[in-house]
Amino acid sequence: MFRLVQIAVPVPLYRYFDYLWDQESPIRPGTRVSVPFGRRLLIGIVIGEISQSDVPRDKLRTVHAEHDSHAVLPSDVLELLKWASRYYHHPVGEVIAAALPVSLRKGKSAVLNEREYFQWCGPEKVPGELQKAPLQEKIAQHLFRLNGKSTGVDNLSAQSPRWRQAINMLVNKGLVSRHTSLAVPDNRSRCTAPQLSEEQRISVNEIVAEFGRFQPFLLNGVTGSGKTEVYIQCIQKISALGLQSLVLVPEISLTPQLMNRFEERLDGCMVTLHSALNDTQRLQNWLYASQGHADVVIGTRSSVMVPMPRLGLIIVDEEHDSSLKQQEGFRYHARDLALKRAHAVSCPVVLGSATPSFESLNNVHDGKYRELRLTKRAGDATSPVLGLMDIRRRKLVEGMSDRMFEAIDEHLQNAGQVLIFINRRGFAPTLLCNDCGAAADCRRCDAHMTVHAKTSRLRCHHCGADRPLPLGCESCGSQNLDFRGCGTERIEKALTTRFPDVSIARIDRDSTRRKGALEDQLSRATRGEARILVGTQMLAKGHHFPGLTLVGILDADRGLYGSDFRSLEHMGQLIIQVAGRAGRAAMPGSVLIQTRNPDNPMLQTLITDGYDAFASISMEVRSQAELPPYSYMALVRAEATSVNEPYAFLQQVATILEGQKRGLMYVLGPASAPMERLAGRFRAQLLLQSDKRSTLNDNLSQLCNEIDNLPGVRKCRWSIDVDPVDLY
Ligand code: ADP
Ligand code: ZN
Ligand code: ZN
Repeated sequence: MFRLVQIAVPVPLYRYFDYLWDQESPIRPGTRVSVPFGRRLLIGIVIGEISQSDVPRDKLRTVHAEHDSHAVLPSDVLELLKWASRYYHHPVGEVIAAALPVSLRKGKSAVLNEREYFQWCGPEKVPGELQKAPLQEKIAQHLFRLNGKSTGVDNLSAQSPRWRQAINMLVNKGLVSRHTSLAVPDNRSRCTAPQLSEEQRISVNEIVAEFGRFQPFLLNGVTGSGKTEVYIQCIQKISALGLQSLVLVPEISLTPQLMNRFEERLDGCMVTLHSALNDTQRLQNWLYASQGHADVVIGTRSSVMVPMPRLGLIIVDEEHDSSLKQQEGFRYHARDLALKRAHAVSCPVVLGSATPSFESLNNVHDGKYRELRLTKRAGDATSPVLGLMDIRRRKLVEGMSDRMFEAIDEHLQNAGQVLIFINRRGFAPTLLCNDCGAAADCRRCDAHMTVHAKTSRLRCHHCGADRPLPLGCESCGSQNLDFRGCGTERIEKALTTRFPDVSIARIDRDSTRRKGALEDQLSRATRGEARILVGTQMLAKGHHFPGLTLVGILDADRGLYGSDFRSLEHMGQLIIQVAGRAGRAAMPGSVLIQTRNPDNPMLQTLITDGYDAFASISMEVRSQAELPPYSYMALVRAEATSVNEPYAFLQQVATILEGQKRGLMYVLGPASAPMERLAGRFRAQLLLQSDKRSTLNDNLSQLCNEIDNLPGVRKCRWSIDVDPVDLY
């Protein structure tokens, strides 16, 4: 008597694999097993017992070993992943593997270790002498603010990567106590809640009234309106019922601020999950969540797949943000999986944003989501005043007009703080030869190299290629070179020249690469130590700089000419989000937007009538053009080392799709990707569009059955992207 078992194996094939089971133990879905696959031994997940197999008995291989005595993936998460595999047309074994922390994928044991906790036990005030040791002071202040609550390694490491040293000193000084335990400490917050505004109160009540039921909400609240406060109070209420909350955020840089606020205010235990954790921390936090110990899980997109046995509430903060969509491999959207998950466990899901995605606004319109509005800023803060600054025919100094410099000067004089936003890092995006006209290009991409002056390098922002900044033109040797355009480095330099005595913080991917640099820069910005902040979209999202009074936006026009149909939507969101950093506390804020298109009607609508008006006009245009959210799209991408392979391959794909005749679907292409050559590979794509999701889905399912048999498939890398957020 032998038994048969179906296993999800992490290979790029659209199926499960059958194996023989000769273990003593029962077959438990969701546990890890080692199975022979080709000449390798892989770790797969048990899907379940089956009664027969299409594979003849003598060809079946046997499961080698079991790794778990309990499921690491419970049935609700397995079902979600199976669904996601069908919806996104991504191989199921890879989808399931993506849900596991790396350590579990590698076969490490799923054992929870004791956790370390720290608690303030010093006097009623942080001793003044700590000011001589700024890091200790910072950590001490943090623990002190928690007001008796103990905190874990997570939150401390978010304060600074050098937290360990500081905490040891504080423990030695008897100001902080440390203990380790497996049990969850009984942790109660003693910080008081602000009095909710009427709109906040209504929002909380509506959400709470739906506990235990599936109900999506769009919390549409202007920047600084207190959305986070609404999340906090809903989480407190669900925790009081003994249930867990899952909070998804688009970027790790947002977690420290959110964590601090959550830790101060929430009872119980919280863990974070994001890419800055090492494998061990990630595994431990994952287990803490999946074994039900963590009351709150805050994480970036992949956290949507973390098992949570008592899940009662899901929050997706900044739901419009495209970093919630995974852009390679298993291309899922965390917001959409969050909805599916909330539906499966019957709980409310709250999507929060000041600039909701058009998809979500359309779902409100169709009655699928309930909208909650926060129209005013919380406390005494007022909404910032936005103004366009016409820079046509004006002399610019490093991309900034004289009026911008004057405005900066004025705000600095009045003790304000200034943020200059430009969505481009480096010194200049192009190095041009004035004699022969050649630009320094990437040798592997259809793109210019960006000049990085600080390091004297040319760098490709697409493939990472990098070479020394040449002394002369790479084509003709002329030394008559021109740095065209501006990036953050150049703006920083111009501001340093103009305001030599003012402290400036540049915050972009280059300046924050060193571990802890981002935390340091953000804390300099928040404390108001840096008077001028220069940054990319890293600075646009979610941050709260209380002293900030002026926001200058330098390159708003780029969004008006984007090649993607979503460019305009993203431009509107970015402008409003960056603008929303101004005037969040006592001092009012103003926002100056440099433009060469001051009469552009969309820009006009956005700044005079606001995001909602802007969105409704833009959505009307989308609707007439039958673009998403009024139709559904998928992209089939292919890339290869020769120009023609991807075309030839996608042509075959198009032929299959056209032959299927399953409902009305447009097949556009193959066309080359907007940037055809990337990292030495040529890329092409096929766009599928239909007004029915089911049509798209049927066609793609059918295609997946055949695509691996196409001639040419071995020479190409191909992928399917359902609901693409970027068309390249
Ligand atoms: P959002 O998440 O909508 O951008 P936040 O929740 O960060 O807004 O709130 C902005 C600021 O207003 C924060 O400093 C927060 O502490 C404060 N705040 C929020 N709600 C209230 C309230 N009801 N009364 C007073 N201050 C509030
Ligand atoms: Zn030249
Ligand atoms: Zn490149």
